[in-house]
Amino acid sequence: MERNTPPVGRFAPTPSGRMHLGNVFAALIAWLSIRSRGGYLVLRMEDLDTQRTSDEYARILRQDLRWLGLDWDLETEPQSRRSQVYDGYFEILRGKGLLYPCYCTRSQLHNVNAPHLSDGTYVYAGTCRNLTTPPDRAPAWRVVVPDREFTVNDLCQGTFRQNLSTDCGDFVVRRADGCYVYQLAVTVDDGEAGVTEVVRGMDLLGSAPRQMYLQELLGFAHPTYGHVPMLLASDGRRLSKRDRDLDLGQLRLRMTPEALIGQLAFAAGIIDRFEPVSARELAPHFRWDQLKGEAIYLTDFLA
Ligand code: GLU
Repeated sequence: MERNTPPVGRFAPTPSGRMHLGNVFAALIAWLSIRSRGGYLVLRMEDLDTQRTSDEYARILRQDLRWLGLDWDLETEPQSRRSQVYDGYFEILRGKGLLYPCYCTRSQLHNVNAPHLSDGTYVYAGTCRNLTTPPDRAPAWRVVVPDREFTVNDLCQGTFRQNLSTDCGDFVVRRADGCYVYQLAVTVDDGEAGVTEVVRGMDLLGSAPRQMYLQELLGFAHPTYGHVPMLLASDGRRLSKRDRDLDLGQLRLRMTPEALIGQLAFAAGIIDRFEPVSARELAPHFRWDQLKGEAIYLTDFLA
């Protein structure tokens, strides 16, 4: 099917600050992969965390994407306005008998459970699975996971396997305050938008099996995944929103979009030598096999 229908990709930024280089890189690759094959791109603001996100950041994000020459075809509703939609999917999971309330406190979670293999959190031991006398407070809701390995055939990272039971444990889909979590929202939003290709940073590779599981339960097809290498400073430090000198607010003052894209494309091995280039000019040169590995070192930007 994929062969005849144009691919659908997405940008799913969190509007909690200016884009930093890592965000720009993931967006560039998402754009190149889709545009080089004549597909469609959806933009979605991931603003579930209303304390940290704002409409103003969302507005600036759109401007930054346009400045970079990374266009999109459709913007879907931001996550903060979709809790009723997520309610419907929550009920599907509950109807399957796969949800249970969890009353564990944060400290219990970290004291009782083994560390998570992939992202430094924990493997939930199932403490609340068979509670007989629940405490009198609002619970979070967890989904029961199968003892089964999920395989991600990643466009950049090759084969990644995770057994949800031993590597993750039953995970939260709705928090005690009623907010839905990223894993559920992203699955529903990508699924409803018909996204066929998810391109994002390597740091989210460990989330893909949870999303694949929810896709199965909720009746969505699995997309193709491409988890792009993280951009690291020359000392191996990960770039983050704290590196203010490398966010677009600063970079836009000292570079053209072509110089920025040329530097990223060169660091990633998409072009052989640095030259200013627009995303559109780069599209015919893009191939996934150019992008391998977990990290790309960015010495020039930090000099
Ligand atoms: N909203 C996430 C971020 O800004 C990306 C989530 C995703 O691509 O699935 O890092």
